Amino acid sequence: MKPGKVHLVGAGPGDPKLITVYGMECIQKADVIAYDRLVNPKLLTYAKENAELLYCGKSPGRHHLIQEEIHSLLVEKALQGKNVTRLKGGDPFVFGRGGEEAEVLAANGIEYEIIPGVTAGIAAPAYAGIPVTHREHASSYAIVTGHGRDYKGQDNLNWQALAQGIDTIAFYMGIGNMPFICEQLIGHGRDEETPVAVIEWGTTDKQRTITGNLNTISMLAVKEEIQNPAIFLVGEVVQLREKIQWFEKVIESESTSEGNESKCLSFKN
Ligand code: SAH
Repeated sequence: MKPGKVHLVGAGPGDPKLITVYGMECIQKADVIAYDRLVNPKLLTYAKENAELLYCGKSPGRHHLIQEEIHSLLVEKALQGKNVTRLKGGDPFVFGRGGEEAEVLAANGIEYEIIPGVTAGIAAPAYAGIPVTHREHASSYAIVTGHGRDYKGQDNLNWQALAQGIDTIAFYMGIGNMPFICEQLIGHGRDEETPVAVIEWGTTDKQRTITGNLNTISMLAVKEEIQNPAIFLVGEVVQLREKIQWFEKVIESESTSEGNESKCLSFKN
């Protein structure tokens, strides 16, 4: 039997309308859809009626597939002749382990395509009214994991280069680690009054944004009980939000307009 093909698809950051046209086509045609936790479930309603939907995400206290099991699953389904869509939040190659999955498919001689998605570190700021670059305020932008902590031996970031050489920095997976991140940036020369924003559930109707500076943000985030998923964005561009924020106004006006079904796209787990 001819093996099927695997599409590694970026589902976008939350608002289901932010998937690409090609990504949507992959959902509509797939025999099997293996999806992660941060994929908006609304996207799955576009699957074929008899498509097999497999949850691969992690959530506390619930059974989930470990990465190796996901690899075997993709290979196994493709070898059964099925067309598989591997659906991941944001972009599959930005902290999505899409690279590892593509390596396994390549090693097993399975055909695949990689369909980029709109990544949270750009989309959440955009929906919060923050351009990650700006002619007057930022000419460089970095996507950085917020996961690493040096006392756990996991931190291999060049903090000095980040603190001094990059105008805008988006930390992914960094919420629990914000005090450490702020301390490192300040300690390596970034002004402690650098504006920062935290955007929780960006691009969904649950989006919340808080702003502060490197000195104040950790406390504010605790006070506001900010949770994952959230992007921690550092840089002068954050100030532009005061002038050009828009999406939270849309959410607000829709939640107050009675009898009008929300145009913002609900995201429920
Ligand atoms: N591949 C994804 C990132 C996966 S890592 C992408 O390209 O966007 C998971 C991290 O992404 C979360 O910890 C959070 O920092 C960020 N993230 C994902 N979705 C988000 C959202 N809707 N709002 C804010 N941050 C989000």
